[in-house]
Amino acid sequence: MNYEGPVQDLIEELGRLPGVGPKSAQRIAFHLLAVDAADARRLAQAIVEVKERVRFCVRCFNVSELEECRICRDPRRDPTVLCVVEEPRDLLAIEKTAEFRGRYHVLGGAISPIDGVGPDQLRVKELMARLGGEDIAELVLATNPNIEGEATASYLARLTKAMGLKVSRIASGLPVGGDLEYADEVTLGRAFAGRREV
Ligand SMILES: [Zn+2]
Repeated sequence: MNYEGPVQDLIEELGRLPGVGPKSAQRIAFHLLAVDAADARRLAQAIVEVKERVRFCVRCFNVSELEECRICRDPRRDPTVLCVVEEPRDLLAIEKTAEFRGRYHVLGGAISPIDGVGPDQLRVKELMARLGGEDIAELVLATNPNIEGEATASYLARLTKAMGLKVSRIASGLPVGGDLEYADEVTLGRAFAGRREV
């Protein structure tokens, strides 16, 4: 059974979000029907603002309000150490550990032949340009501890091997097959501190 007009539209839009099935979509829609108009408007406004004001940092591809993100603009960050992550959310998970004082490079995913994602679909070219143009001495590969993340880390380790950099991979101890963003801060912090050269 379908609801009428705007309610059905909302359920359909919510149902297109990742991880939201038809039942959840319906539950959220009815929740929004019940909340104050001001609360609902704040949510709608946050969605509009994120699309209008947030873009990707031209240097590291983190989400950013300005041309360069807060981390790239911060002169206290060590510009010689670069941590490679898959997504901005992984960057945020590492930031929460307070274990890393360098800068980042966000790939925008991981190598996954099944999904048709190869190095060309990721920001590998941009990474190589940074390694060529910036004064980077160490590369930390912090892709997720799953098949795609490991494949990506091995690929990047091979690609950068001849460049005279120190290349390390975050330590195991993270749940295999998991995502960095779901690791708790202590575990991720430890994995970071225990990174090994590859
Ligand atoms: Zn940046």
